[in-house]
Amino acid sequence: MLGQMMHRPLAVIELLKFAADMHPNGQLVSVRTEGDIHRYSYKDAFLRTAQLAHALKKLGVSRGDRVATLAWNGYRHFELYYAISGSGSVCHTINPRLSAEQMIYIIEHAQDKVIFVDTTFVPVLEALKTQLPSDLQIVVMTDAAHMPETSLDVQCYEDLLAGEPDTFDWPELPEETAAGLCYTSGTTGNPKGALYSHRSTVLHAMTLPLSIPDSLKEGNNILPVVPMFHVNAWGLVYAAPLIGANLIFPGGKLDGPSVYDLMNTETVHSAWGVPTVWQGLQAEIETRGAVPNGFSSVIIGGSAAPRSMIDKFEDAGVSVCHAWGMTEMSPVGTHGILPTHYRKTRSVEEQRGLQSLQGRRFFGVDLKIVDEMGNRLPHDGHAIGELYVRGNAIISGYYENEKATQDAMDAEGWFGTGDIASITADGFLSIQDRAKDLIKSGGEWISSIDLENIVMGHPEVASCAVIAIAHPKWDERPLLVVVPKGEARVTKPEIDALLLQHVAKWQLPDAIEFVDALPLTATGKVSKLTLRQMFKDYELPTGEQE
Ligand code: AMP
Repeated sequence: MLGQMMHRPLAVIELLKFAADMHPNGQLVSVRTEGDIHRYSYKDAFLRTAQLAHALKKLGVSRGDRVATLAWNGYRHFELYYAISGSGSVCHTINPRLSAEQMIYIIEHAQDKVIFVDTTFVPVLEALKTQLPSDLQIVVMTDAAHMPETSLDVQCYEDLLAGEPDTFDWPELPEETAAGLCYTSGTTGNPKGALYSHRSTVLHAMTLPLSIPDSLKEGNNILPVVPMFHVNAWGLVYAAPLIGANLIFPGGKLDGPSVYDLMNTETVHSAWGVPTVWQGLQAEIETRGAVPNGFSSVIIGGSAAPRSMIDKFEDAGVSVCHAWGMTEMSPVGTHGILPTHYRKTRSVEEQRGLQSLQGRRFFGVDLKIVDEMGNRLPHDGHAIGELYVRGNAIISGYYENEKATQDAMDAEGWFGTGDIASITADGFLSIQDRAKDLIKSGGEWISSIDLENIVMGHPEVASCAVIAIAHPKWDERPLLVVVPKGEARVTKPEIDALLLQHVAKWQLPDAIEFVDALPLTATGKVSKLTLRQMFKDYELPTGEQE
């Protein structure tokens, strides 16, 4: 028997409409590329979002079209999120740290119709000029007075909005309609697209404040250091308007002193980001001898939060929530808020130990770990297996990529994360390692296989492997291990020049080491495990990656 209830489709624009109505004075504060600070309310944002929706129509954007953004966290980017999805097209956020090759690949793969770009990233597009699709329209996200000199054929964001009506007849869309698109890079070659729906996005936004209520509450000032150009700033762009929290957008200034100053002057209560950013902030806190004014909660994710980092924050009175997730999961899957009775019954040492784990699942996220044959393993804190997930805001496949979809999904329809994990009986996830050998630098992936494939093209290289080496600032950096072909030793500048034809500068290995032979597994593959053991105490040269 079916229930007899109305079916109102979940829609992204309803989040902002609700904020304009119920939290009209909720604030969006943005550090702008123009150099100043911009402030306005959710109510103002909704009006401008309507103007932008009209402008998109005039640009010829129709339902289902992909519209790209290449931008920092800021109010214009926020308007784009809502105007694009709200009018039935797809907001495709592009990570400006991708290599030229990857960026062109995803622009072509997504078949973007328009790209909105911050002034900072105009040179990035200029460098790609000859490879960009000829019909791609480019809009620079600033006003007429700040338009940059450029050889590109560009339009001005504020000119497009000027004079447009501030109401829009938002279409009622089936809730499964695509709302957002974000590419993740895998171990091999091309990035893969996660295509979020209105339904998944709204459900994810509704779930976040349920589990992280101390951060996500009405009137709180929240700083998303985590970028809007990758995985929707962990969903904050949707969850904050829903609950009436204020968003403080940091723009491009993400170094410790700048983040500290912004937090201090804007009285940020809660800040979200990857460990690398918090290292910079903690150094600044040490220098100044106090945490920024009002700072009481930090959400750390994207890579493992070191225990020392958790201790420093907690000791300074800032509560830590260590979260885990993936692009494919919208992205948040688990959170580290401890059950209240643990706070009373467990020692501080035990509590900190639990906070170092990746936390417990959100409502709407199921976790399972399996062995190599796909058999489920117990959640006993000991059994270690590959982590699979299922849920309302998790991809059912990659966008237009049958092969990657088949590789990722299991027979029961669960998504394979590629992470190796254990789960305790009380539900704490512990990520042990990654099944693949990606290197995570400053919150961004570097594919070891991509680097190896390119280096193998050098005439003086017989074989090679790239492994991650722990790095105090960036978490991990790549080390290239080379077996030379003859007597000659390839130099780092030569390798860099070769790699730079395909990858971004920050993805270059920090150092090269030479060995006579690479260790092999029983099946004849390079054993990265053994290699990592061999170089476990290796110290990278300092100052390479800034
Ligand atoms: P991305 O899709 O770029 O967000 O990367 C997702 C991957 O980052 C996960 O599969 C994990 O390997 C890693 N990751 C994210 N959060 C954490 C965390 N808290 N601890 C350890 N690894 C993490």
